[in-house]
Amino acid sequence: MKVEITSAVLEQIRALCVAESNEVCGLLLGAGRRIDAILPAANVASDPSRHFELDPVTLIAAHRAARAGGLAVIGHYHSHPSGVAAPSPTDAACAAPDGTLWLIVAGDDMRAWIAGPGADGAVRFTEAMLDAR
Ligand SMILES: [Zn+2]
Repeated sequence: MKVEITSAVLEQIRALCVAESNEVCGLLLGAGRRIDAILPAANVASDPSRHFELDPVTLIAAHRAARAGGLAVIGHYHSHPSGVAAPSPTDAACAAPDGTLWLIVAGDDMRAWIAGPGADGAVRFTEAMLDAR
């Protein structure tokens, strides 16, 4: 599986996450497996240094814009300020096996994951190749 992203969007995400001690999050907008733009969202988690929760206001606005003919919401990104660019156990517990894209940033590392169905209704993350152009 391959996910396309422009280098401009990639740099935009990197710039938002760098030197930020709390987890940074936002939505990935585009079509299919192509990221065309991002929509930064506030992290409204009670402990944003360890978890992330997308601001529902941003989420609702993005879905409304998509229905009105805008870019589709194809997933989201978040950072692991002191972790690795892979889904944490908390991420797995919160994820739905809906095929959405999870982009995780840890330092200079950025990796894309697809949240698909695993055994017993659980989520199985499959890594996708990030194709920056
Ligand atoms: Zn995470």
